[in-house]
Amino acid sequence: MTNLPRAVRERLRNQFALQALELVRKQGSRDTTQKFLWRLSDHSLIESVLIPANPALYGEASDRHTLCVSTQVGCAYGCKFCASGLEGWKRDLEVEEIVEQVLAVERGSCDEGRVSGETGTRLVSNLVIMGMGEPLANYDNLLKALQILNAPWGGGIGARKITISTSGLAPQIRRLADELLQFRLAISLHGAMDETREKIMPINRRYPLRELTAACEYYQQKKGRMIKFEYILIAGVNDGLEQIKPLANLARRLNAKVNLIPYNKVEGLPWERPSEEVQEEFLKALEKAGITATLRREKGHDIDAACGQLRLKTEREFAGMGPTFER
Ligand code: SAH
Ligand code: SF4
Repeated sequence: MTNLPRAVRERLRNQFALQALELVRKQGSRDTTQKFLWRLSDHSLIESVLIPANPALYGEASDRHTLCVSTQVGCAYGCKFCASGLEGWKRDLEVEEIVEQVLAVERGSCDEGRVSGETGTRLVSNLVIMGMGEPLANYDNLLKALQILNAPWGGGIGARKITISTSGLAPQIRRLADELLQFRLAISLHGAMDETREKIMPINRRYPLRELTAACEYYQQKKGRMIKFEYILIAGVNDGLEQIKPLANLARRLNAKVNLIPYNKVEGLPWERPSEEVQEEFLKALEKAGITATLRREKGHDIDAACGQLRLKTEREFAGMGPTFER
């Protein structure tokens, strides 16, 4: 911009950035789950995952893509099974670092010849706020970012196409219920009884199931049928049939669907996914109890798609704990 005075250009260069994310690593390929690892200006690493709609799942060919977005560097909530929480919380993402995950992924995909702007529609049609971090612990920045991604002058992504996942921050769930936008809410339940949940999710001590469900009930009353339970199946921890009755009761009370997810192994952690027979049995028992449930036959298992895993691997490699890191 040589039409601007040199001093102004200098100031712009020193004080502003057009792009906050630098691509460090990309895994996966066209038409499959793609994982992006970004470096931020302070050299922190975060991830986004692009998931194409599965024609076999939806019964139609589709251009829909869902982007899984991160909201923090690391996570303070320390769920025992999760790679994101392993090294603690480093910082909240800024508004632009959240928004730019969508833009940078679309830019990256344009390079491969999938020009999203060609038809005037964007590549990313749905968002799931399920990447690294606890979204509701970075509430203000998340809300600003989602307002921008939702606005007609911004991303134009409908609020009903945006799902926020939380490990259960009850007060923020109530606050979200009072917002104008109708986001979908996913609760990472992973246990239908306090004693089960407490073993794997420290947050349950702060907001036990009674408090969490009361907050969800408030959300459900304000927003309608917008809640989904995420339930990772971990062998020997929460995959027993004694969970079915309390889980079905919770789901019925909140009119919630249950999404069963076989646990994704994290290197260095002892947890395992149950056998497929156990997974199917759990699903059938839930359905028999009258609950709408799905069992995710995982996409992206082979590319470390579960939250925080690619970052963890890359940081270990940087630290000389794994194979040499190649850019
Ligand atoms: N902090 C938020 C959102 C990020 S985690 C939350 O906890 O909901 C997104 C989802 O991935 C959560 O349901 C979380 O429990 C799940 N998850 C974390 N580690 C996983 C793993 N190794 N395998 C499968 N799911 C995992
Ligand atoms: Fe944090 Fe969610 Fe991982 Fe728990 S599951 S440690 S809340 S990112």
